[in-house]
Amino acid sequence: MKTRILVIEDEVKIARFLELELNHEGYEVEVVHDGRSGYEKAVSGNIDLIILDLMLPGISGIEVCRRVRRVSEVPIIMLTAKDDVSDKVMGLDSGADDYMTKSFAIEELLARIRVVLKRKGKIEAANTHTLGAGNLLLHKDEYRVTYKDKEISLSKKEFELLRYLMENRGIVLSREKILDHVWGYDFYGDTNVTDVYIRYLRNKIDQKYEVQFIHTVRGVGYMFKENEE
Ligand code: CA
Repeated sequence: MKTRILVIEDEVKIARFLELELNHEGYEVEVVHDGRSGYEKAVSGNIDLIILDLMLPGISGIEVCRRVRRVSEVPIIMLTAKDDVSDKVMGLDSGADDYMTKSFAIEELLARIRVVLKRKGKIEAANTHTLGAGNLLLHKDEYRVTYKDKEISLSKKEFELLRYLMENRGIVLSREKILDHVWGYDFYGDTNVTDVYIRYLRNKIDQKYEVQFIHTVRGVGYMFKENEE
């Protein structure tokens, strides 16, 4: 599978230039021009690396970086127009992996992308592709969920819903967001489907094992959280 790079850059010409160069290198590229859509894409779980402009309309690059870091370890290379040390420090403080000024030569950016991806690969190889909360373990690659090593039998949708909740642990997810993510934008059915599936998960996990992972946030949606968190 091709490595997917997300470019978040409001300057259309630069974004287009990066897209062409990265495509040429064999990367799959997605481009967005503002921080909000950048954040949405970044946390979708389908991105391998982000090139993030610091100065963006709406949510700044720094803020996008901070928010992404709350939920994802996806590598981020930050871009800025000026060669300013305080920008650099802020960028790295907010969780970026690397930093470049916009006067960069494309070869340099490509080299840094390779370094960051390599580093990420090593970290991932060390991880076991599981999400855990207390005794609950979700094995991403095997589509398997266990509680104290006992199998919990989930349908594909239940599994995807649980994975989405666990990947966004501590964050309230609206029904719309869950619907978009788990069922897709082309879902035209009843929006109550999220409530129904949340109930399935609760029956199979929370109630069965007398724990509380799935929390209802009144008027907003749902959140995955360990009792003791
Ligand atoms: Ca900009």
